[in-house]
Amino acid sequence: MAEHPREDPVISKLPSPSSELFVHSNEIAWLEQLDITEHDFPYLSPLLRSVFKDWIPAVSSFQGGGQLSWLLADWSAEVIHSEDETSLSKWNEGMYQAMRACLDTGKTTTISLCKDAVAEHNVVAAAIPIRTKSKAEVFSVIGCIIEGTSEEITFAAQIMGIAEHHFGACFYRRFENTFFKDFIAIQEQAKRETLRRSFLVEIVQRLQDKIDVDAVLNEVLDSIVRVYPNARLEILMSQDHQSSNSRVKSLQLQGETRRLCVQAFMEGRLLRNCFQTEHGQGYLEIAVPLSGKQGVYGVFHLIIPSEQFEEADIQLVGMLADTAGTAFENAKLYEQSNQLIHELRLINELTQQLSQSLQLKEVFKFAREELLHIFGAEYCCISQLDKDKDFFEMVSTNVASLTKEIFPRDCGFCGLVYATKEPIILSDYHNYGRVYSKLMEETGSSSLIGVPLMIRGEVSGAILLTHTRSHYFSYENYKLLQVLATHIGLAIANASLHAEVRRMANRDMLTGLYARHYLDDKLLEFQRRDTKGSLIVVDIDKFKQVNDTYGHQIGDQILKQVCNIIQSTVRKIDISARWGGEELAVYLPGTELEEGYQLAERIRERVAAETKPRVTVSCGVSNWNRKDDKISVESLFYRADMALYRSKNNGRNQTRIGRNI
Ligand code: GH3
Ligand code: MG
Ligand code: MG
Repeated sequence: MAEHPREDPVISKLPSPSSELFVHSNEIAWLEQLDITEHDFPYLSPLLRSVFKDWIPAVSSFQGGGQLSWLLADWSAEVIHSEDETSLSKWNEGMYQAMRACLDTGKTTTISLCKDAVAEHNVVAAAIPIRTKSKAEVFSVIGCIIEGTSEEITFAAQIMGIAEHHFGACFYRRFENTFFKDFIAIQEQAKRETLRRSFLVEIVQRLQDKIDVDAVLNEVLDSIVRVYPNARLEILMSQDHQSSNSRVKSLQLQGETRRLCVQAFMEGRLLRNCFQTEHGQGYLEIAVPLSGKQGVYGVFHLIIPSEQFEEADIQLVGMLADTAGTAFENAKLYEQSNQLIHELRLINELTQQLSQSLQLKEVFKFAREELLHIFGAEYCCISQLDKDKDFFEMVSTNVASLTKEIFPRDCGFCGLVYATKEPIILSDYHNYGRVYSKLMEETGSSSLIGVPLMIRGEVSGAILLTHTRSHYFSYENYKLLQVLATHIGLAIANASLHAEVRRMANRDMLTGLYARHYLDDKLLEFQRRDTKGSLIVVDIDKFKQVNDTYGHQIGDQILKQVCNIIQSTVRKIDISARWGGEELAVYLPGTELEEGYQLAERIRERVAAETKPRVTVSCGVSNWNRKDDKISVESLFYRADMALYRSKNNGRNQTRIGRNI
């Protein structure tokens, strides 16, 4: 009804909306007493005008020959509508007087404005009061200028009473209609409000149960679509978020599209915008940030026909976004803590397994297999820089064509990781174009994560994982690989250290030859699985004298010279050891006695020719064969020693053979 800001006297009489479909007649007594009061008078003009327009055609049918011109005024005698402006302006003064008198007395008032007995033409102004039902207060006046013969005027005067009653009835019928419309609108409003409230409660409850980030988003989307089926809805996420729901997209901060969303995201508040299509359909666009206590995660974007959306709906969407934001954050935190636990478990398992192996080869193989499994990668390459840092060597890979490959240190992604000392994540190699990679090309890979392999604080290689699908690896994958690489680096360092210690334990410090126990062990192994072999023992002649002449230090140097000559004379598979003091031994696997003799002679000749100060050596050679009766390390040494003894006795600087007895 009226749009006045004060307490609405009509609305305040409203009973609370009943949910019952039918209302008993004695319960609607209030409706019969429904009336306007003086507070409503200033706001009645629109209603009065429309009643008047409908009423005029009805009253015109009563006309009995004279000229009747009707007008309508409000409770202060101000004209609201006039049928005939010319007539009114002509008789304005008289009409006004009649209306004032009518308002003062509350009765129909007539004033004669012109009386022409000759021409039989009279003019009368009549003012009819329209009163309220209950208190009979005049809230409107109907004015009428009557022109005609005295007979016609008398007839018209009789109509006035009917007009008063009829207009009043028309007004109240319209008033009740209007009231009913308001009443029903309020009921609908209340119903919608209840719906919204229960919807909100329901969704809050459902969201609280969700511990899965995707489920939270799906729940919110489904619920809104259920309540507003005509809404176009999407959620734009600011971070990388994989979702099966096509309504969940990523928020592009750059560019012209969805500016309202970007603005809502930046400002962290609900924003709205109204627009019209070419066909004149009005739409409302709403962007609400999806935020929790720790940050803004994305934006709800809703477009809906304006007429279907009220202010309360906007508030509802706002509250929903708040609830969803908190639920999303909780689910995210839960997911992150699960992820962390999972990663810690992985790290724990990996390090445990890695520490069980002290063999470098095994460490590399295990690391490769585990990395492929953990990240679901298709290809893995672990490469190491060689000692002089000249080139990379592929130490472990499942790419057959790259196995044991050697490549320059500025080559491919290994080179990039080595140069920058930084990890790398690549989602689309084919659009990257800055690095040529044999690995990516040969495997047809698009995605890559790579990290430097740090050993004792230095970059000593790289780990690369790839997949043929683009955008395959997540940021979490990239971070986890860095953590795992640290542990793999440690395992490699341990295994290398272990290998070094083992190497040192088997070597003689002064000469660099193998130690005696190593040769003993190896000889045992060879005799178990081989068919034959020769042993040479070498002893420096009169070494005591050398020491006495030149001193121990020079003696040491000579010993080293002899050892170097031995090492550079024998084959790679032969094992040279320091047997004790200045006595040295070389085992020649798979060698006949004669070949052993030749080699011993070669050593002897070179020592005599190359040492400085010059020394000579005496040698003894023995061999073993699978056909021998007795095969043992001791007997092999014994016979070589015997042969050496004979060399010494025979004048030194010579080689003797110790045959099988
Ligand atoms: P020959 O074998 O010709 O019978 O005489 P020799 O003087 O070499 O033999 P002997 O067994 O009497 O002496 C071996 C000497 O080798 C004694 C020792 O001083 C010297 N010797 C053993 N090991 C080392 C070593 O590591 N460094 C030096 N400088 N001398 C060593
Ligand atoms: Mg000697
Ligand atoms: Mg000796």
